[in-house]
Amino acid sequence: MSPDAVVVGSGPNGLAAAIVIAQTGRKVVVFEAADTIGGGCRSAELTLPGFTHDTCSAVHPLGLNSPLFRTLPLAAHGLEWIEPEVMVAHPFDDGSAAVAYLSVERTAEALGGDRDAYRRLFTPLVRNWPSIEADVLRLPGWPRHPGLMAGFAWRALQSADALARRTFEHAHARALFGGIAAHGMLPLDERPTAGFGLVLGLMAHIGGWVLPRGGAQRLANALASYLRSLGGEIVTGAAVTSVDELPPAKAVLCDLSPKPLLRIAGHRFPPRYRRALERYRYGMGVYKVDWALDGPIPWRNATCARAPTVHLGGTLEEIVSSERDGWSGRHSERPFVLLVQPSLVDPSRAPGGRHTAWTYCHVPQGSELDMLPRIERQIERFAPGFRDRVLARAVMTPADIERHNPNLFRGDIGAGVTDLRQLLARPTWRTYSTPVRGLYICSASTPPGVGVYGMCGYFAARRALKQVLRD
Ligand SMILES: Cc1cc2nc3c(=O)[nH]c(=O)nc-3n(C[C@H](O)[C@H](O)[C@H](O)COP(=O)(O)OP(=O)(O)OC[C@H]3O[C@@H](n4cnc5c(N)ncnc54)[C@H](O)[C@@H]3O)c2cc1C
Repeated sequence: MSPDAVVVGSGPNGLAAAIVIAQTGRKVVVFEAADTIGGGCRSAELTLPGFTHDTCSAVHPLGLNSPLFRTLPLAAHGLEWIEPEVMVAHPFDDGSAAVAYLSVERTAEALGGDRDAYRRLFTPLVRNWPSIEADVLRLPGWPRHPGLMAGFAWRALQSADALARRTFEHAHARALFGGIAAHGMLPLDERPTAGFGLVLGLMAHIGGWVLPRGGAQRLANALASYLRSLGGEIVTGAAVTSVDELPPAKAVLCDLSPKPLLRIAGHRFPPRYRRALERYRYGMGVYKVDWALDGPIPWRNATCARAPTVHLGGTLEEIVSSERDGWSGRHSERPFVLLVQPSLVDPSRAPGGRHTAWTYCHVPQGSELDMLPRIERQIERFAPGFRDRVLARAVMTPADIERHNPNLFRGDIGAGVTDLRQLLARPTWRTYSTPVRGLYICSASTPPGVGVYGMCGYFAARRALKQVLRD
């Protein structure tokens, strides 16, 4: 029997799209090039036997709070989220650290002179999130709560650097906000980086910054298991080289960024649309390192030893400069390093008493420079003796990252820049649709964009259901 819909790629958005279509009783088949499912949501023994590392995503601030995922019976399909006591820690050279906890109050209290400013920024956001969530995480259009959205957008559309300076007086709060905003992979003096700081900062206060027990692969496996329970099929080791070779189906949804999409479907597009996809901009690359450690990281600041996510970059000024370097084709001497230590909260990741650590820093697109010494120097800066704990390392350069997944052109893990223009017209003004009837894009190169929360897949599937899968 021919499927109603075919999905190319089993990343979180591909699986989400397949689930939304399968939930309506339609037959869906997913073709995945790799031998394992999950795309940016996979885990593997990258260093030594018994050490489970997340190949790509490690912490899922939007996963737990995804309007789609939270409606799915993922726990029944093996997913367990671990909510850490400390969401994010950000150490400084003097041995102190700024810390985001679940509670806004507790976080604010620890920020001393910026206590009230932090409360004023995040308390209304947390209160209003249920009302504005749908507006923030959906297609651009007339908001359901225009007043609240205007207040949010006024802040979110600023640069993180400007908002942090305007809001906070002291180094701790400024750097905490800047480090969180740096997940947006844009220079922090560019708009709308404040939006990343606000949304991801807010996620810390509504139960976010969680990790799947056993590794990111468990989330992909739970999505796949639920999809199969709905009758969906997944074929791995099946790289699609042209959409012409797919079984006939009313809808084809590609979990692809523009470059690989052009390779398999470019010949079907009119020249104007092809050119628009060719103009789509990819951003900075990422240099990633995983370690197997013979003990926990010896942080100078004790709270860092309780935080799965640690941001290493010192002051806001330093982080702004490091991100600007990567963006402008330079390699920062002291790169901003995002570090995750999953085994602190999930002993299943490493053999007894041993640990894993995951990091990356932003580098110029396609960079070939060995950033390992600089990354390890940044860790040593806040955790002297770190190198003595290393049992093994696994490095992924931007080229390795693209080889691992062609969506991530020259190591851009965001599948395209999320500046103001590409936030809205992503990858073109047609968003999920293409000029070919029945052919859709459902990857993180569509709105709302990067991250593991399935909403790009959800919206693409909804459009396909409305346009070509009605009967
Ligand atoms: C190193 C790294 C760290 C990250 N950290 C985080 C994090 O901590 N938290 C977070 O939320 N996000 C993180 N991300 C981003 C997140 O992983 C992505 O935004 C997310 O996976 C995008 O999902 P997707 O379904 O759009 O595409 P992808 O996850 O890219 O999946 C696309 C799938 O399509 C397959 N495919 C490609 N071409 C073909 C073809 N021709 N035929 C068949 N299959 C094909 C690929 O093999 C892949 O499985 C990280 C990404 C990377 C790379």
